[in-house]
Formats: sequence, structure tokens, C-alpha cells
Amino acid sequence: MSDVRVRFAPSPTGFVHLGSLRTALYNYLFARHHNGTFILRIEDTDQARYTEGAVENLLTTLQWAGLDYDEGPEKNGSYGPYYQSQRRDIYNKYVDQLLTAGNAYRCFCSAERLQKIREAQIASKETPKYDGLCRNLSVQESEGRAANESFVVRLKIPESGETIVRDIIRGEVIFQNELIDDQVLIKSDGFPTYHLANVVDDHLMQISHVIRGEEWLLSMPKHILLYDYLGWEKPQFAHLPLLLNEDRSKLSKRQGDAAVEDYRKKGYLPQALINFVAMLGWNRGDDQEIFSIEELVESFSLERVSKAGAIFNREKLDWMNGIYLREIPEEEYVSYALAELKNAGLNTGNDAKNKLIVRAVRKSLSHLDEIKAKTALFYNDQITDYDDNAREWLKNNDSKIVFKAMADEIEKLPEIDLNSFKSVMANVQKNTGIKGKDLWMPVRAAMTGLTEGPELPLVIDILGKDKILKFLKQAMEL
Ligand code: GLU
Repeated sequence: MSDVRVRFAPSPTGFVHLGSLRTALYNYLFARHHNGTFILRIEDTDQARYTEGAVENLLTTLQWAGLDYDEGPEKNGSYGPYYQSQRRDIYNKYVDQLLTAGNAYRCFCSAERLQKIREAQIASKETPKYDGLCRNLSVQESEGRAANESFVVRLKIPESGETIVRDIIRGEVIFQNELIDDQVLIKSDGFPTYHLANVVDDHLMQISHVIRGEEWLLSMPKHILLYDYLGWEKPQFAHLPLLLNEDRSKLSKRQGDAAVEDYRKKGYLPQALINFVAMLGWNRGDDQEIFSIEELVESFSLERVSKAGAIFNREKLDWMNGIYLREIPEEEYVSYALAELKNAGLNTGNDAKNKLIVRAVRKSLSHLDEIKAKTALFYNDQITDYDDNAREWLKNNDSKIVFKAMADEIEKLPEIDLNSFKSVMANVQKNTGIKGKDLWMPVRAAMTGLTEGPELPLVIDILGKDKILKFLKQAMEL
């Protein structure tokens, strides 16, 4: 494929939606697969939607996810993303061209008038649309009024005929021109709308493929007309399927599952979230689900993106995250886990011990934020909470017998480690006649407060003699 150039073009309005992360990822994968260029363009021309910190948040999120972009205007010896708010002069030039050719016109209608038309149309069950009052003003009148009246510039959509959109994922989509609104290109504050700035930039940045969410498909005929009016060659388009909740409603922040930041804060691994998001609407044509980023780059193609809405399944994400937590190299896991311990304010200051602790709980985690609860026993002087199953085991009469025998054995030793623990437990079994689950489950419950959790021998090794005796006493007194 000749020179692939793609862009991720978010409007920074606050949090980063999972759907945006997927758009960014698919663009990134497509660019890397074709040795192309991946551009980040911040679409910030809508002053009303400006949110403090949104851009920083977006950049941090992309960096966390490992989606690095390739070019942009020079900034302190490196390059930053493109910002549309810094490119306003560029857009004006093309509006003039459209006005001169009669493909756009100034509209002087007041907000009140537009509101009235809209209400009347809704009342008579028509699709709300500008009624075209200013469409045919003479050049003279238009220029005269522009000197002292406020106006917007609108795109002149043909009154009849159809506009055909060709999309890699959806095939051909046909739009009836009479249903399309005369889109505002320049607002009364002089800023371009998304539609104008987006098309102009895609052209000037020589974008070869526009890959974005399905919600933009409806804007396509307007964009196609803009390309035609300006005499520009069109890029190829690929509109990605919507992300849906299990009940098939649109995945939204309100339901609490949509913000990438939340996953980052909850301690999901970027590799896991990326893998998960990659599978929301794409597969390789077989049933493999776990892909490294390198494998994704190698296998990704737009042809295998599906049209159907992709259902978001939280359990699947947790499952994937668990796989990554267990399978990433130990060093990598330890560094994520220690950072998480610090976040949770649990660091004991003893790094060697912390490492042992995070290794002991590794297998029982499905995401990193569980680490606080699962490691608490190592940092506290008592078990602060027993789960329900643990309580059941502790109530058992045999359990008390096991604890007593275990305490007696341990008292005799100067310290306890993995080896001596084995012989302690062998003696307890011999002396009490209790074995199997009845022997091990109460010990696990007493030492960790849990019936499923960190690996027992590792726990014993880290706890040491004094703490083990304390925990046994606490369990016997329960
Ligand atoms: N600024 C639009 C957004 O926020 C970009 C859509 C596009 O990629 O063209 O999603």
C-alpha cells in the first residue's frame, strides 16, 4: 500500500472513552502494520466544550497505553501534537474559496429564528433542518450585511440527488441530499466547526485513511461534498462499530465502564486493556484472543473489522487482565505491583520484603488494585477481616485442635521457613490425625483471612514466627 498516513483526532472534552482508545489503537495498528505514519491531532475548535486538563489527560492516557505518534509541530526540540485552535488562519482561506465559488453562503438568521423553525419542524414531525432563507442572498447583500451583522457560514448542500459514501467496513452507503442540513462551517465566533477543520486538515496532512467511530458516518455526505467542492482527492474511510453494553445500549460514562482513566487507576495493565480493546470489533479470523502488541500490529487489517456493534464484557477484561498479570515477566510484574503498593500507601520501606510479598499474592490477583487487600495481612498486626468461608472453617472444632498443635510445634522452633513449615505440618497431621482439606483450609483461613488467596508456604515464610503465633491466637479466640 502506498504511503499510509492516519490520524487520531480527538476533541478533548474530559475523560477518554474506551471507544476513543479503540479508535486510537486501530489507527496506530494500521499505521504500524503498513510502516506508515500515525498522527495525533487535537480537535479543539469548539470553545464551548473546552475542559481544563483534558488534553494533558489524553496525552497521559495515550502514553500509558503505549500509543506513540509520529509527527507534529516542533516543540522544545521534540514534537507536539497538532492543535486545530492554532491553525485557524488556514481554515478561513478555504471558506473564502467556498464562498467565492458559491458553494457556501453567509447566514444572518438569529438564534431565535432558528429556534422557531426548529420547533415548528419538530411539531410537524419533520427532521429539523435550516430552511434556506439566506441561501440565495445576492453577493452584494451578503457582503454588505457582513460588515456589521453577525453571521455564520453554511455549506450549500444540493437540493436533490444523492451522495454516495464508500466505506471499507460498511461498503456503499447512500444519502439523499434533500435530507441533509446546510452545515455550519464557520460559527459566529469565527471558529470553524468540526466538519470544516476536520476535512481541511485531513487533506493538508495527506491522510490516506480516515478511521473513526460510527457516530461520524452521518456527517460523511457533508464531508464528501466539501472534498468535491474544494477539488480534493478523498481519503479512504472506515467507520468502526459502536461499543455497546450487554443490554445493547451505548456504552456510556454514566454506566461507569467507559473511562480509560478509571481502568488505569484501578490498576489494570495497559497491555491487557489494549488487547481487550483490540478485540472489540476485530478478530484475526481464528479464535485466538490473547495478542501482544507486536502480534496485533502484524495481524491487524480493516477488512476484518466487523460492522456489528461490539459488546463490552467486563468479566472478559478481568479475565484477560488476570492472564497478563500472571504471564508478564516477573520483574515487570514486581515493578507494577510495587508502584501500586506505594499508591495504596502500604510500603513498608523494606524492598526485599515487599518483593516477596507481591510475588506471594501474584497468582491470586485479577487486577492490581486488589493488591492492597491481599497484602494487608503482611503489613498489619492482625487479620483485619475474615471472609465468610474463612469464618466457617474457623468455627470448626477440628480447626482449633489444628491451631493448638501448630502453635505448640512452632513455639519449639527459633524461626520458621519453608522447610521447617513442612515438618511442622507433618507433625501436626501425625499428632492430631487431621489431614487434607480439614488440615489445610483452617490454616489458610487463619493465616490470610481468606480461603482463596496467596500461596500459603510463601505467606508463612514472609510472616515469620511471631506473626504466625499471633494470627493463630487470634483465630483460636474468634
Ligand atoms: N474530533 C472528532 C472526535 O472527537 C474526530 C472524528 C474524526 O476522527 O474525524 O471524535
